[in-house]
Amino acid sequence: MFRFYIARQRYDAYLVADRLNQAGIRAHVFNQHASSIVGDVPPDVAQPQVWLERECDRERAETMLRSIEADADAGEPRRCAACGEESPGNFDLCWNCGRNLG
Ligand SMILES: [Zn+2]
Repeated sequence: MFRFYIARQRYDAYLVADRLNQAGIRAHVFNQHASSIVGDVPPDVAQPQVWLERECDRERAETMLRSIEADADAGEPRRCAACGEESPGNFDLCWNCGRNLG
């Protein structure tokens, strides 16, 4: 396991991990609930992170990350009516609770 990506937003980590897993790259999100302890730990530890299981996936994952970031400007974030979390504009389901955002 190694750290691949540090997200700026919680949904960034989920978006990246989802896309990678769909492509057959084993990715995990860590520290996704760490926002409540920001201030107690260094910022780079508190940020949500995507870790990959296999070093051999790194190159393909980096290519995917660039394309994910390229279409990250998908419009206004959409706020979930159920839990209040914001998801990227191109999400159909809330990343947090799975509710349909349409
Ligand atoms: Zn939700």
